[in-house]
Amino acid sequence: MKITKISVYRVELPLVAGNYNWSFGRFITSYDTTIVGIDTDAGIAGWGEACQLGPAYLPAYAAGTRTGIAEVAPHLIGADPTETEHVYWRMDMALKGHPYVKTAIDNACWDILGKAAGLSVSVLLGGRYGDDLALYRSISQDTPDNMAKEVAEHRAIGFAAFQLKVGGDADDDIARIRRVAADLKPGERVVADANTGWLPHQAARVVRAVSDLDIYIEQPCLTYEECLTVRRRTDHPFVLDECMDSVEMIVRGHADGAMDAINLKIGRVGGLTRARQIRDLCVSLGIALTIEDSGGGDIAAATVGHLAQSTPEKFRLMVTSNYFKTELRTADGAPTLDNGRMATSTEPGLGIQPRMEVLGDPFVVIA
Ligand code: MG
Repeated sequence: MKITKISVYRVELPLVAGNYNWSFGRFITSYDTTIVGIDTDAGIAGWGEACQLGPAYLPAYAAGTRTGIAEVAPHLIGADPTETEHVYWRMDMALKGHPYVKTAIDNACWDILGKAAGLSVSVLLGGRYGDDLALYRSISQDTPDNMAKEVAEHRAIGFAAFQLKVGGDADDDIARIRRVAADLKPGERVVADANTGWLPHQAARVVRAVSDLDIYIEQPCLTYEECLTVRRRTDHPFVLDECMDSVEMIVRGHADGAMDAINLKIGRVGGLTRARQIRDLCVSLGIALTIEDSGGGDIAAATVGHLAQSTPEKFRLMVTSNYFKTELRTADGAPTLDNGRMATSTEPGLGIQPRMEVLGDPFVVIA
């Protein structure tokens, strides 16, 4: 099988809440997402999506994604998309770094491999654990009462796991965490995610002030080294996210005892080929995972679903529901939200069919 054409689409997905504020005054009002379609000489097409949380979250941005794909794609015409590692090698030879650029292409190749094999991507990634996925709700940074209200609204529709966006003023964050914790029900899980927003002295104050609460702390500070100093000053279970961007960082973090869990974003590490490698390493090392991406719509939801579904339940700390922050549907067959859970397709590949009328005209086509 050979790749004959790569088409790139840009879709703007407005957020239902209008605004999503994740840390230190940084927010978005829509997902600027990139969807890639790969055509082959076998008549099988594959689809992938890459979406960043705006340009200020990770060293990645939407326009860069599309420009990068246009740079890489000519090197892939004629390659066999079912040879996922070989395609990745070609991408790495054509463009050093920039894993977010490679994400949608890589995921589309997995979709093609699944369709060619007659197997779902979750089966290709190792097999399916459980029937569906319990999701968490990320709670946009707001006043303590408003955050508690959003938790209550989502508890009422089946959610039992919540990620509080903190990483602002330390005193405000202590109030946010304590206010939400006051209402928690047995069995609920709460992660306070600072998204790199605190300096170590601020993080030290927050973890001390909430030391009596059964909560997780996620990525308090910008760098790995800063996070490690906070880790050594708290006994809260500890999640690293933004700084866990490679196999090397997982190995280093494990050796240092720097985390109990990581937040694995498929787009940050460059697609399913790399995410699977990191997931498998974490399972081998006893490191739990939050499995997600930085945003996107139906195709990204399906992709995250397959990676999460193929991860043993014991290792799933959280699975994102961020796709349901938008109501613009870009594909049929994608997971839907049901009582705080989503089920992943058992159809071949990712199990989705894009809505071409929503995708519109391609941004660029390489053939
Ligand atoms: Mg995080």
